[in-house]
Amino acid sequence: MTGSCLAIDIGGTKIDVGVVSADGSILDRQVIATGAHEDGDALLGEILAVAEHLRARSSEAPIVCGVGCGGPMERGGSSVSPLNIPVWRSFPLADRLEQALGIRVAVDNDAKALALAEGWLGAGRDHSCFLAMVVSTGVGGGIVLDGRLLDGARGNAGHIGHLVVEPGGRRCACGVRGCLEAEASGTAIRAITGKPAADAGPADIERCGDMVGRAVASVVTLLDLGLCVVAGSVALGFGEPFFMAANRSMSRSLGLDFTAGAIIVPAGLGGDGPLLGAAKVGLDAAGTTVGPR
Ligand SMILES: [Zn+2]
Repeated sequence: MTGSCLAIDIGGTKIDVGVVSADGSILDRQVIATGAHEDGDALLGEILAVAEHLRARSSEAPIVCGVGCGGPMERGGSSVSPLNIPVWRSFPLADRLEQALGIRVAVDNDAKALALAEGWLGAGRDHSCFLAMVVSTGVGGGIVLDGRLLDGARGNAGHIGHLVVEPGGRRCACGVRGCLEAEASGTAIRAITGKPAADAGPADIERCGDMVGRAVASVVTLLDLGLCVVAGSVALGFGEPFFMAANRSMSRSLGLDFTAGAIIVPAGLGGDGPLLGAAKVGLDAAGTTVGPR
């Protein structure tokens, strides 16, 4: 059976809704600002309005809906509580979407979805062990180990944004001090510098890369990974100075022989990765993915 996927990437700043074919072509898409919704139902209503609009004009009818959403969540998105979307707390996202759309809905963490996409069509394509991460409004991650996406006991494996990189540092939304997300996310950079990440200076970029490198080094050593691919508007916006700083920082924290050669690179799919990841979550659930893995 073939057919397209209605893909929804739900982030802290924007929501990307698209129609994606089984081979990963983005056929149509529309972006919504996550912004000031009165409550969880209002936010869901706007997502559904756009989804129905795209579905109605699609030449290749979606047979499944795939969703990438910020964590944490219960496995499969039966209940989601994205740290950056306060109007959704224990929100029954998967059921509500399925009832409204009338097609199968598969939900996973947005950074895990990104890892799937990068392994399918991006920088992780020829790798069976890698970390994919997003440095954007928040910081998230997904891990592919021995060719399989790690889920964890409750589906939340890969939350690299909550590794402590600065003991006693800034208070994180999770309550702990010094998490990577509290030190290096777009939200953190704005709070520290008083400017949006897009206006950050060289020292701010260096510091962000330094923090990311510390966290990645721990994961690389723990899981014997050779590659970390990084997406997200902050990291990709900073570009080469960020990646150089992150790699320098990581190298300083790697001592064992098997970690030599580990590298942090920009995501291969750029800004399309999260939407393609959401699509992969849906296409895999429907068993209709075309291409490797
Ligand atoms: Zn935290």
